[in-house]
Amino acid sequence: MSVSVRRHLLLLVWVIAVLFNAISTQPARAQGQVATQFQVVIDSTAHQRYGLYYPVTYMFQIPGGSSNLSAQYRYNQADSWSSLPVRTSADFFNGINAVRFDYANNVAYLSVAFSSTSDVIYLRVLNGASEVSLTYLGMPQYYDNRRAAVTVTLDDWDNANGPYFVTAAQYLSAAHVHFTSAIETGISPSWSAIQQMYNTGYMEVASHSRTHPCTQADYAGAGYTYQIQGSRDDILANLSLAHPYVPVYIEPCGYEDAQVRQGIVNAGYLTTRGWQAPPTTTGVAETTWRWSPSSFLRLSRRAVSSSTRRPAISGWTLGCTLFKVQA
Ligand SMILES: [Zn+2]
Repeated sequence: MSVSVRRHLLLLVWVIAVLFNAISTQPARAQGQVATQFQVVIDSTAHQRYGLYYPVTYMFQIPGGSSNLSAQYRYNQADSWSSLPVRTSADFFNGINAVRFDYANNVAYLSVAFSSTSDVIYLRVLNGASEVSLTYLGMPQYYDNRRAAVTVTLDDWDNANGPYFVTAAQYLSAAHVHFTSAIETGISPSWSAIQQMYNTGYMEVASHSRTHPCTQADYAGAGYTYQIQGSRDDILANLSLAHPYVPVYIEPCGYEDAQVRQGIVNAGYLTTRGWQAPPTTTGVAETTWRWSPSSFLRLSRRAVSSSTRRPAISGWTLGCTLFKVQA
């Protein structure tokens, strides 16, 4: 599709801030359990299919009056423990393995990503060399119990728009702001420029189809699979990614229909993103609410409303049972 036919902004910067709320989308089997070690166990098939490489935060109550604790994790019982770097509420950090202790409220926030080599995360907190008793409290809505989440999304990265993206990516990376770039893989984007910006560590690569179909007729031309799965394949074939997954499909023009949604599920994306004001579920944006390597959580969110909005898409509901925490 030529540039002239596209009816939306060439470069869209979409920033949405949504407030914390209390919808619970996560499994909570271990909630309230007391133990000195916990395990997070992920469904092996889902782990393989979606990667799920973004750290999730687990909240534990710690003994009152604690100080100078440390937290550790490992992926196999035979491994030695690794210590999590300690961060405080005064630090600016996102999307990393870390622990934050809130001693005033007796809560520890352990953020740990899954490893591609194991379906289990083992967690513990130490006082000196001694494990302390923990009570599992659940997972916060946003990484490290943030009060709000902001996402920055840029589309359309194709041949003509490439220089604008490089400029934007340089500004965002310098400001340590994570962002997502939507690639039109069939309109000759500069893969070397994309790779270079990806390597800064702040850019996530999302699919934006191959040739930007904005209607059912557009999709019908080359086919839904060509656009949706094909663009994913192009990204994986042309870029060297730390994790060989493309979690997000960003819908060109925000257009979707049942075949688009099914195509997204079939291609193994974790979630999709539109561009009009996102639908809300009791006041919280249903999509677009976090830097998307956490998109398995967004999938959970979307699944919450799928019974009313998208009953045909059974694939989304997987998000609710991807992993569980147990003592
Ligand atoms: Zn677009």
